[in-house]
Amino acid sequence: MTKPAIEIKLSKSKKQKPLAEQLEFGKVFTDHMFLADYLEGEGWSNHRIVPYEPLMLDPAATIFHYGQTVFEGMKAYLDKDGSVRLFRPEENMRRMNQSGERLCMPQFDVENALDALKQLIITDREWIPATEGTSLYIRPFMIATEPYLGVAPSKKYIFVIILSPVGSYYKEGIHPVKILVENEYVRAVAGGTGMAKTAGNYASGLRAQEIADRKGYSQVLWLDGVERKYIEEVGSMNVFFKINGEVITPALNGSILDGITRKSIIQLLNHWNVPVTERKISMEEIRSAQQEGTLEEAFGTGTAAVISPIGEFNWSDEKLVVNSGETGELSKKLYETLTGIQKGDLEDPFGWTFEVPDPAIV
Ligand SMILES: *Cc1c(COP(=O)(O)O)cnc(C)c1O
Repeated sequence: MTKPAIEIKLSKSKKQKPLAEQLEFGKVFTDHMFLADYLEGEGWSNHRIVPYEPLMLDPAATIFHYGQTVFEGMKAYLDKDGSVRLFRPEENMRRMNQSGERLCMPQFDVENALDALKQLIITDREWIPATEGTSLYIRPFMIATEPYLGVAPSKKYIFVIILSPVGSYYKEGIHPVKILVENEYVRAVAGGTGMAKTAGNYASGLRAQEIADRKGYSQVLWLDGVERKYIEEVGSMNVFFKINGEVITPALNGSILDGITRKSIIQLLNHWNVPVTERKISMEEIRSAQQEGTLEEAFGTGTAAVISPIGEFNWSDEKLVVNSGETGELSKKLYETLTGIQKGDLEDPFGWTFEVPDPAIV
């Protein structure tokens, strides 16, 4: 297969870049974006980098009515030598295709997606913030664009990549959060779309999140959709528990998102010979462990926060405090190791990081 050429149309003017210390999450976007078009029977065409601008879509486009869309989230870091590093980007592009398969959307060649991403990052390289904790958040997504109100897979799509400089997740240092266990609403069920990164999962989660916010909790803990008994995820992160020296995370069951941070943590723990098990784990078991004093740590994992320690669960008004509300030793070590590898400060024995070639050197 020949590689599609990427046409580059540079922006005439450059936007003002925000100061590193004022960066938030996902509010500011760089000067350019990547786009490609898909038409059933013809495949992908028109691979291009163009100035960042609003999309023009037919109001009847499938995306607006039936939600045929998938997305990804990853980060680029500037290392101390000024090189740009990505963390397991091929895993994200592969997962986007898996998500797309569930929603009857076309596949986008992983190599071509990585080429597009590299080109876009090189184009907007000046936008990567350099201060501690900051990064360039990368949002690839695909949407259905055929103007048709029948419920059927669209025949037309666009694949887009946008970039957003983001501030440090932990401006005041890593600190544990309080979690409300959600007994009524569910995020996903096996057989549904929980394992796909698709818009509907997040729209349906907003209601519970809003209730948790109002009660002073930062995220919800999602339970299984059948019995409201087994733990699935925390907010839009995977979740881990350390009980009596063993690390446990819910096994992938068709409704849990297969996180790349989750996968990396399991690999790291295996590498360190820390026992780690993927299995069903109930809220009942967490309460027993907490009461017996064997619940040592709990934390969420995902690209945005990397590790988010949990200091308390509220389960039907019963408060279960974890590790006196402090960040645990393992949580800290995992956070430092993963972010160290991502930024190139630590050795990468797994070959996880990927350096974007610097056009000034090539
Ligand atoms: C993206 C996401 C995660 C974390 O995945 P990473 O690849 O580690 O960023 C976990 N759960 C949900 C629901 C997600 O959307």
